[in-house]
Amino acid sequence: MLNSPQTAYNGAATQGRIFLIMTDSAKLPKIVILGTGGTIVSSGDDPLKLTGYRIKGLNVETLLCAVPELQHFARIEAHQVANIDSSSMTFSIWLELGRAIEKAGDFGPPAADPDTAGIVVTHGTDTMEETAWFTHLTAKTQKPIVFTGAMRPATALSADGPLNLLNAVRIAADPKAAGRGVLVALNDVILSARDAMKISPTNAAAFGPNVQGPLGLIAGAEILWLGRPERAFGSETPFSIPKLAALEIPRVDIVYSHADDDGVMVRAACAAGARAIVHAGTGNGSIHCCTDEALADAADAGVLIIRASRVTTGAVTTGLAEWQERGYVPAGTLTPQKARVLAQLVVAEYGQVQSALAEAFSKY
Ligand code: ASP
Repeated sequence: MLNSPQTAYNGAATQGRIFLIMTDSAKLPKIVILGTGGTIVSSGDDPLKLTGYRIKGLNVETLLCAVPELQHFARIEAHQVANIDSSSMTFSIWLELGRAIEKAGDFGPPAADPDTAGIVVTHGTDTMEETAWFTHLTAKTQKPIVFTGAMRPATALSADGPLNLLNAVRIAADPKAAGRGVLVALNDVILSARDAMKISPTNAAAFGPNVQGPLGLIAGAEILWLGRPERAFGSETPFSIPKLAALEIPRVDIVYSHADDDGVMVRAACAAGARAIVHAGTGNGSIHCCTDEALADAADAGVLIIRASRVTTGAVTTGLAEWQERGYVPAGTLTPQKARVLAQLVVAEYGQVQSALAEAFSKY
């Protein structure tokens, strides 16, 4: 049962308020849910409105009302961090979320709570993979952090949000989820934040792995664990929320290659002040001959260049000798959008230092 006296269906009005689901069992683990918006709290005009909906006033509180069964799995505390469509995500909301996660866990001031067993973040699916990856690299905890959302709005026939939320809470409450980094869990599949990628704009099975495959599966009432991330994350990185909050957020642009590419977008990114450019090249991070000079000029001017690929799976390798000589860093298995996040963190922490960038891409 919710303890809030009345329903305030508005993100701003709920910010700073805490919602609790009461349960009889003090023995159940405590899970903190942090709401940031997305389709999971969106409304359409009728149950058949499966696209073209908006956030109209639902929030983390309404999510709790929709899933009273949560009380069988955890003691829930919920906070509204933001209430936006995640297509409009920003670095400052990442910092805000990072602070809320630190506050909810036992790993950061000012109001650390050792009692929290795990954290669930509800988020729009559009940029969930970027926020989850940022959190994977910055959250200094072994406790489970599980991102979830929905592809169908809360008002839809067969809305997928309620079960996704319930499963995310079950995962976060499972001690076996600990030490696996940030997880992305929707539609019964549990992925590492490093590997999770939105692969469908409309299907409920919207997330797939880039290369590694699921770390776990939900099979009915069971959680089947299958793997752990291989690369360093969280406490093993130098990136931290308090430090980042005090640093300038560097501009990093993604430039997408295509037939007839001519380097104009690379030059535009440099003119806009990009400190690094992620080049989403063709194939193995290839560069159009008419863009080559623009990228070389950018590198000469100190802009860091990351060679990623517009191909959605697999790994980009070092490639041509001249690219290596110019210091271009291959993105490996990171998608352009994930490479961008890592480049932002590296430039914020170290400045435009090519060796720091190369090391980060080989480690994380
Ligand atoms: N537009 C939504 C978002 O906030 C999509 C979703 O959540 O599924 O990302």
